[in-house]
Amino acid sequence: MAVREILLLGNPTLRAKCEKVRSFSDGTVKALIQDLTDTLVDFRTRNGFGRGIASPQIGVTKRIIFVDVDRPIALINPEIVNRSRATMLLWDDCFSFPDILVKVRRNVKVVVRFHDAQGTINDLPAEGGLSELLQHEIDHINGMLAIDRAIDSKHIVMRSEWKKSVNASKNTHTL
Ligand SMILES: [Zn+2]
Repeated sequence: MAVREILLLGNPTLRAKCEKVRSFSDGTVKALIQDLTDTLVDFRTRNGFGRGIASPQIGVTKRIIFVDVDRPIALINPEIVNRSRATMLLWDDCFSFPDILVKVRRNVKVVVRFHDAQGTINDLPAEGGLSELLQHEIDHINGMLAIDRAIDSKHIVMRSEWKKSVNASKNTHTL
């Protein structure tokens, strides 16, 4: 159980398509979830933001994500099985490029099917902040980053510049 190093933009592991977890009984999954939890808590303490992390960000190319919005949830082999037609625009950020903000479009609502740590299948309906977070983290296990989803190149900005313009903007930063 440990705080792990977070891989940064440019590291090829962040571009890997991660492998499905098939075994739930050998303790590897639980240990990995604990590391994701410890690393998320540490990042949030040091940086003041952070609600989710994906396994490839700590160098493990398995399909596991961990989110903590109203409650902590580890999702193994998560898959979006339903998404609303309605979309929303928002400023997104990422542990793997903490100084950059990217404006992206996400579905307002999604339903995510996943295994829990015992291997049981669950469906999680989500909207708003949890919905966009799950879409962000599921992108990670497919090797996709928020920066790839920028609505255009003008909407990739340094956090310091974004802060200067935040009052002029009606856009919500939800992280
Ligand atoms: Zn991220």
